[in-house]
Amino acid sequence: MKKIIIVALVMTIAAIFYQLGLDQYLTLEGIKNSQQYIEQLNHQQPILVAVSFLIIYVVITALSIPGAAVLTLAAGAFFGLLWGTVIVSFASSFGATIAFLLARYLFKESAQQRFGDKLKAINQGIAKEGAFYLFSLRLVPLFPFFMINLAMGLTPIRTATFYWVSQLGMLAGTLVFVNAGTQLAQIDSLSGILSPVLLLSFALLGIFPIVAKKITEQLQSQKVYAKWQKPKQFDRNIIVIGGGAAGLVSAYIGAAVKAKVSLVEASKMGGDCLNYGCVPSKALIKSAKVAEQIRHASHYGLDLKQQPTDNIAFSFKSVMQRVHNAIAQIEPHDSVERYTNLGVDVIQGYATIIDPWTVQIKLNDGQTKQLTTRSIIIAAGAKPRIPDIQGLEETGYLTSDTMWQALSQYSQAPKRMLFLGGGPIGCELAQSFARLGSQVTQVEKNNRLMRSEDPEVSQIAYQSLTDSGVQVLTAHSALRCERKDGTKYLIVEHQGAEKALPFDVLICAVGREARLSGYGLEKLGIDTKNTVVTNQYLQTAFPNIYAAGDVAGPFQFTHSAAHQAWYAAVNSLFSTFKKFKTDYRVIPRSTFLDPEIARVGLNEQEAKAQKVDYHVTTFDMSELDRAIVDGATKGFVKVLTVPGKDKILGVTIVGEQASELLAEYVLAMKHGLGLNKILGTIHSYPTMSEANKYAAGVWKKEHAPQRILKLLEKYHTYRRS
Ligand SMILES: Cc1cc2nc3c(=O)[nH]c(=O)nc-3n(C[C@H](O)[C@H](O)[C@H](O)COP(=O)(O)OP(=O)(O)OC[C@H]3O[C@@H](n4cnc5c(N)ncnc54)[C@H](O)[C@@H]3O)c2cc1C
Repeated sequence: MKKIIIVALVMTIAAIFYQLGLDQYLTLEGIKNSQQYIEQLNHQQPILVAVSFLIIYVVITALSIPGAAVLTLAAGAFFGLLWGTVIVSFASSFGATIAFLLARYLFKESAQQRFGDKLKAINQGIAKEGAFYLFSLRLVPLFPFFMINLAMGLTPIRTATFYWVSQLGMLAGTLVFVNAGTQLAQIDSLSGILSPVLLLSFALLGIFPIVAKKITEQLQSQKVYAKWQKPKQFDRNIIVIGGGAAGLVSAYIGAAVKAKVSLVEASKMGGDCLNYGCVPSKALIKSAKVAEQIRHASHYGLDLKQQPTDNIAFSFKSVMQRVHNAIAQIEPHDSVERYTNLGVDVIQGYATIIDPWTVQIKLNDGQTKQLTTRSIIIAAGAKPRIPDIQGLEETGYLTSDTMWQALSQYSQAPKRMLFLGGGPIGCELAQSFARLGSQVTQVEKNNRLMRSEDPEVSQIAYQSLTDSGVQVLTAHSALRCERKDGTKYLIVEHQGAEKALPFDVLICAVGREARLSGYGLEKLGIDTKNTVVTNQYLQTAFPNIYAAGDVAGPFQFTHSAAHQAWYAAVNSLFSTFKKFKTDYRVIPRSTFLDPEIARVGLNEQEAKAQKVDYHVTTFDMSELDRAIVDGATKGFVKVLTVPGKDKILGVTIVGEQASELLAEYVLAMKHGLGLNKILGTIHSYPTMSEANKYAAGVWKKEHAPQRILKLLEKYHTYRRS
């Protein structure tokens, strides 16, 4: 309400101003006509005239009424160069700051809420370099004065900074105009005051601070190289450390644009995803799902009377063999041969950065090789985090790195399995092993599983795991491991009481930590803070050393590693001409639980934490024909949109093939398509993807124009009468 009153007040003053015809005094002609009278008055009451002039100037600029240029000339004519400049300098800065504060009070909040994501980069730029930008804008008189005041009000720049930078930045222009005003009689038009040469000089003066700042930054970034001897020439354009998703894609891009690239991999090509992560886990999940479907064949009308369906017989070894077959089948995509054929020099060995341009490689055959390079891309990945639990080393444990090999020897799934961790990896694996016949207990210290998702998603995950036979223990903390009478136990604490959980195999799935030591980061002094610290271009403190993938964070996905790899490779090769900021706006994530959980953009808990206004639309899978036919009615599509608009802020899908369904929303968000566009797109019937369209339909119904519908109802009633 207060805001409406202020807007009304400003508009009323402006209307009165024009109604009284006061705008005629703000023209060159008007000032000239009143010059003699004001000069007389100024002679009799100099202070009164100066103060009145200052107040009028402040009001005109505060209300963004055109005329400041003419008033500045007038100041020269009435008060001379010195006093004219002093009065205008303060009046224009006061007025500009009031306009700035008005814009900020009235519009900043709504602008940031509406366009928050788009303004993010601008906000960050202003927070970092706002004073420089403002100074340039003020110096170059081509940018309208009042527009700068209003636009800056919508940014996070500090009021004090706005004031002093404005005053300083406008000084040169003020001087020119006030000086011209001292010869008011000879001026015929405003445009003649600033000659092209003068305009150009101002522009150059305006960009000078930014150029100076960039040069200073450049010099500072060069300082990190001070104690190192740069080679005169280089063996390679890029050396990539690590042959996982990030490393492979970086090397591929480098080679594709004809750079000389070496890719160093210490272990298996393909990294975690192929060998220990996505590929084996998804192969296992598939077998486990089939086992579950056989066990519940009666759900599909198949009453297997001859076999006890809760105890299906199969060879666990064959399941694990299938997992390894899947790896073997995909292996050629990431192989040394393939990448060599693509033009990458693949080196199998352990890389150590010994100076900003030199990498030493301990080859697998024991020899050592040293190569110089213009750029280095660190893509060394992450490794499983091992919790600090007393007795864990003695009783033994497996991780995603070791389990695939270790469990290959089992003819049956381990009898009692214990999973530490309630995140995506822990949930996927716990469900699979339970479905393959293990008695699984999952321990999570937080009070819900998958806590980065909304609570109802955690609830479905919990239900799905317990339905699969997993004993889920949330809010349980692991205290220690013990061995008693040949049995291994994990002792956990829950609500002050201890509990002993027997197990045969314990799997740690409590998160993964970036590989940060042992390959030279420490010696170079490259900053690490859980991950390698990089800027938006993925550069470390050494601008020619980049990091991508799990080692750089903030995500730990194969697709985000590949996404970053593009930026690392392109920036490392072409930063002299152009650098690209990594774009993290639309990163999807999927957990392959049954039902799957997939998300892009914000969920509710994140929107609340970030104070983003949102509208929620939910469509339940139980209403979808295909889900009913397939017996897959658990789950929902939940869409967050900007209130009153179809713009998508985030989508969570839980259900069969949720990870596939999400792709449509990923595309929509990436390219700014709203729910109306999804609703207007034909989806095959009967498919799970129709859920996306129906969710858009629910949104549309909730946003139906009620007034128009009422009018239509009246129209139809009239047509029937
Ligand atoms: C069980 C599990 C399931 C997963 N499921 C999924 C999923 O479904 N979807 C998804 O998107 N992500 C999944 N992930 C995550 C995904 O595997 C990783 O995000 C991805 O592998 C990261 O790729 P990267 O290139 O950053 O690192 P990595 O794949 O770890 O590759 C790093 C490579 O660098 C090598 N290296 C390290 N140091 C050196 C050195 N000094 N010299 C030479 N070589 C070195 C390592 O040997 C390694 O091969 C899963 C992970 C796990 C563990």
